Amino acid sequence: TLSTLDQDTISAQATPPGRGGVGIVRISGQKASAIAEALLGYRPRPRHAHYGPFLDHDGSVLDQGIALYFPGPHSFTGEDVLELQGHGGPVIIDWLLERTLALGARLARPGEFSERAFLNDKLDLAQAEAISDLIEASSRAAAANALRSLSGEFSRRVSALTDALVELRVYVEAAIDFPEEEIDFINDGVVATRLAELRQRLDQVRAAAAQGALMREGMSVVIAGRPNAGKSSLLNALTERDSAIVTDIAGTTRDVLREHIHLDGMPLHVIDTAGLRDTPDAVEQIGVQRAWAEIERADRVLLLVDATETQSLDPLHIWPEFVSRLPDPARLTLVRNKVDLSGEGDASELSTTPPVIRLSARQGVGVDNLKAHLKQVMGYTTTSEGQFSARRRHLEALERASAALTTGTAQLQGGGAGELLAEDLRAAQQALGEITGEFTADDLLGEIFGSFCIGK
Ligand code: GDP
Ligand code: ZN
Repeated sequence: TLSTLDQDTISAQATPPGRGGVGIVRISGQKASAIAEALLGYRPRPRHAHYGPFLDHDGSVLDQGIALYFPGPHSFTGEDVLELQGHGGPVIIDWLLERTLALGARLARPGEFSERAFLNDKLDLAQAEAISDLIEASSRAAAANALRSLSGEFSRRVSALTDALVELRVYVEAAIDFPEEEIDFINDGVVATRLAELRQRLDQVRAAAAQGALMREGMSVVIAGRPNAGKSSLLNALTERDSAIVTDIAGTTRDVLREHIHLDGMPLHVIDTAGLRDTPDAVEQIGVQRAWAEIERADRVLLLVDATETQSLDPLHIWPEFVSRLPDPARLTLVRNKVDLSGEGDASELSTTPPVIRLSARQGVGVDNLKAHLKQVMGYTTTSEGQFSARRRHLEALERASAALTTGTAQLQGGGAGELLAEDLRAAQQALGEITGEFTADDLLGEIFGSFCIGK
């Protein structure tokens, strides 16, 4: 039930809009070679760079540039592809684009080139997504991961798992088909052993994918606290820049401030919230509402207190109205700021509920402990060995596969029928197939490719 390829020839600007040295228009489809001939005045040689004029309909010169022609199937999309590299000005590129439309192409939808590459088996779905991740990577580590996924590292591991799964399925189904055999193939221990092995391998892929997803999507941290607790100072200490306004007038930070930093390659989206207090000021009220929206979504909430104002380590005692409204108290960390004034030192207590970090945002003391804590709660490890980029979508599919294998194991241990186990194995295989796009519904494909930019 995959989307089917239409026969249209598509065209789009492949370079970002605006002005630049070079602007590229990419054309894919059956009419690419005819468009090339009309635009160039000759038939280009495959995979050769031709420098010369691009011709308008009346034969006048529209621009000078380089034409590259890749006949299918040896092209990015698997179709005939023409790439026109002109001068990178919006007028020229629009003109060139219009000319390709006049010659029979239509404008490509977002992600349509990658979608065609996928439908023509040039890439699987995880690889197509990696293209987008590579382009959007926010750190070198994330880019390196995306490249590894693009080259098929993630897909190969998923395929290897699928192969092992299929083998086991065949074994179990054969055993079901021959019940008259003397030996109980289902319960002779072989299936149990192979199932356990499979689950272990799946867990390894899941752990690696979780790291990859973290490196792509990062973690969001909210800094909440009463006015003057030092929220803006902590944000500045984390970002090592003066991004937030630090003052000693309560209520200075009226809106939600966001900062994006990296902790060893993991993007960290830090949000400094408005004063979170009841206020008659309309602007401040909006800030408070937004702050709550952020808190509900955040991976971690830092409750920041001025250590000179309270000795308490109990969040409910420190700020009952705030803490009782939290959707998930387990995501809370208590941060005692201004330890330079309280004199209590910067020792953290990580095994308590909530964990306690002591620091001085102003002096930068203890800030590294906070960073280490944030990496730890997300399960982020710094080793980039064997990493690849992954998305939440992939993680969810791996989790579904894992759940199916867990149920299958329970069936086996309960002496259940082989049919049920076979059904669980089938479900696990289906979930894995969604990662590479073997079993992916049309609407999901549309959603994935639709989130790409035009020209990708
Ligand atoms: P916010 O209202 O929570 O954002 O607090 P600010 O970051 O604006 O800080 C309020 C005041 O506390 C400012 O005068 C800061 O310089 C001061 N402050 C913040 N962190 C520390 C700290 O670690 N030690 C000391 N001594 N002062 C701090
Ligand atoms: Zn502030």
